[in-house]
Amino acid sequence: MLLSITNTGPDASELGYLLHKNPANVNTTPLAFGEASVFYPDTPENECTAVLLIEVDPIALVRSKGARQAGWALGQYVNDRPFVASSFLSTAISRVYGTALNGTCQKRPELVDKELDLTTRIPALPAPGGQQQLERIFAPLGYDIACQSAELDPNFPDWGESPYRDVTLRRKTTLQSLLQHLFVLIPILDRQKHYWVGDEEIEKLLAKGKDWLQDHPERDWIVTRYLKFQRGLTREALARLAPESEIEEEETTEPTGEKKISLHSIRLDRVTELVKSLTPASVLDLGCGEGKLLYRLLKKTSIPQITGMDVDSRSLEIAQERLITRPRGKYDKRLTLIQGSLIYRDIRLSGHNVATLVEVIEHLDSPRLDALSRVVFECARPQHIIITTPNIEHNILFDGMKPGQLRHRDHRFEWTRAEFQEWSHKVAETHGYQVTFEPLGEEDPTHGAPSQLAHFSR
Ligand code: SAH
Repeated sequence: MLLSITNTGPDASELGYLLHKNPANVNTTPLAFGEASVFYPDTPENECTAVLLIEVDPIALVRSKGARQAGWALGQYVNDRPFVASSFLSTAISRVYGTALNGTCQKRPELVDKELDLTTRIPALPAPGGQQQLERIFAPLGYDIACQSAELDPNFPDWGESPYRDVTLRRKTTLQSLLQHLFVLIPILDRQKHYWVGDEEIEKLLAKGKDWLQDHPERDWIVTRYLKFQRGLTREALARLAPESEIEEEETTEPTGEKKISLHSIRLDRVTELVKSLTPASVLDLGCGEGKLLYRLLKKTSIPQITGMDVDSRSLEIAQERLITRPRGKYDKRLTLIQGSLIYRDIRLSGHNVATLVEVIEHLDSPRLDALSRVVFECARPQHIIITTPNIEHNILFDGMKPGQLRHRDHRFEWTRAEFQEWSHKVAETHGYQVTFEPLGEEDPTHGAPSQLAHFSR
């Protein structure tokens, strides 16, 4: 089993520092299922190639009960495992290239974040779906993909094509990102994971996938296959990757007797109370996510028409499951879920009395806020609009947050109280609304409350 990584460019040899493998030597590492060697076959100018060669020992595999080849007697000794890229390759990557995979380079730390022109070749990757399948997985991550297929045996054309492909991936990226992608994606193409999949696998997946998996269009498919179709694990991993698992939910709690209530619950309860006091006939929850506010509105009020809108179909599926499928008809008449984006005018948004946007605006790039305010204040134009957003001044009080770090990786910005008020006044004035503000969560005398609410009315 082979994996070669080539760095191209005038400083190509930097690859050796990053991999912590001296190009002058052959480095060999024993593994439970065989042996891994790293060597540099050739060093032409402007190019540096490191090859990871893994020799899988089928006897060692049988002893460690790693290979369960059903079907025929010698199947456990004679199989494709020594040759194809599989979860063994991921194990070898983490053992042999572990330092690079974790983003460390003692001698040249500045190289860790440097984007290199990297070409990766995997000569036998199980990909029966060919180029199309590989495009679905690697193209969203920015790779150019070349995939060569071959006949299983040229002497027996009837046997058809081999399911293994000779694959080349090219992209300008950091070495760490490349290794993370390979670590997660190679085993999902090969369906035989050689080790037990348990809770630890979730941690590995989230650690290696945290910077890219959440936004990958095939996220659910990747997670399901990585965790070998174990539904409990898959659900947990997907929930932890979901956008609204925000730091603050865990970080900020307020004691109320024995029970601790998260900041998000405080926020949702306050918005529910406020909406209820307005006695609307129809409410619109924009950016409803998985339906936490919708659930409260359905349960704690008798508002007859409640509509949740979000751009993310997966969140809407979860809301659908929680509020429509499982309660079996309890809320069907009052609740409508729609998919749409807040930056496009949408006729379905007009004719409601109240609109809420709970922790939504900070998920949009700030140049999009003008479009959002036109859609909400001009097109939907309800009598009341309630917007909440984090107060960045308060971040300093959260344990474990680095200076400048935002509360969630999908936040495009976070505002001070003055910035939120300035924006709100401007929007209110442009569109003919009055606006009042209130803090959400426990207020600090200097840094204010963790979150802030604006109530617009006309
Ligand atoms: N209001 C929910 C979810 C907040 S997370 C709650 O308080 O629990 C932010 C939500 O905004 C996500 O569900 C995200 O999908 C949604 N969102 C982001 N950009 C959007 C857009 N342009 N249009 C509609 N929804 C959007």
